[in-house]
Amino acid sequence: MSIILDNLPGVVGSLPGGSGVIAKADDMINWARKSSLWPMTFGLACCAIEMMGAYASRFDFDRMGVIPRPSPRQADLIIIAGTVVKKMADPIIQVYKQMPEPRFVISYGSCSNCGGPYYDSYSVVKGVDKIIPVDIYVAGCPPRPEALQFGLLQLQKKIEQMQMSRGGGASPQQLKGSRDIGTAV
Ligand code: SF4
Repeated sequence: MSIILDNLPGVVGSLPGGSGVIAKADDMINWARKSSLWPMTFGLACCAIEMMGAYASRFDFDRMGVIPRPSPRQADLIIIAGTVVKKMADPIIQVYKQMPEPRFVISYGSCSNCGGPYYDSYSVVKGVDKIIPVDIYVAGCPPRPEALQFGLLQLQKKIEQMQMSRGGGASPQQLKGSRDIGTAV
């Protein structure tokens, strides 16, 4: 069996003329969603240079299905890479709101996690989670591109837990907001 069929989230069987797959809709949707995370191109400070390195040939984010998009309308992930100054808070919220649901946020680096070296500055937000919800935090100043890729793998694991069709309705967690991921039952 090919590597693609081996990784399908379901039972793969041989049929006359080809192969068939039986899977839960949740598994197929989550598999497609986690395999094609398209981040908004968005950088704020030095961490953004490391993020760009993750896209370049040595680390090659594309092989994980991560293709940067120039518009929030086409993106389902935003990587907050750099210092979040208070003047940028409103534009970040606006860009976040323009992204379609479900949307995900990775906070990349100490500055966006908690203010970092500028924690005491009058002009810096003490963590991007003060203004938008964050799914994954990547520690470091700056974190290496590998750390960002590891963070993305953790986000993929969270996406695998999402339930869109449990009993035909949303889970209690999802009712609080479509970003909330229900626990497996
Ligand atoms: S965490 Fe460090 S490297 Fe990243 S933006 Fe802040 S000061 Fe720069």
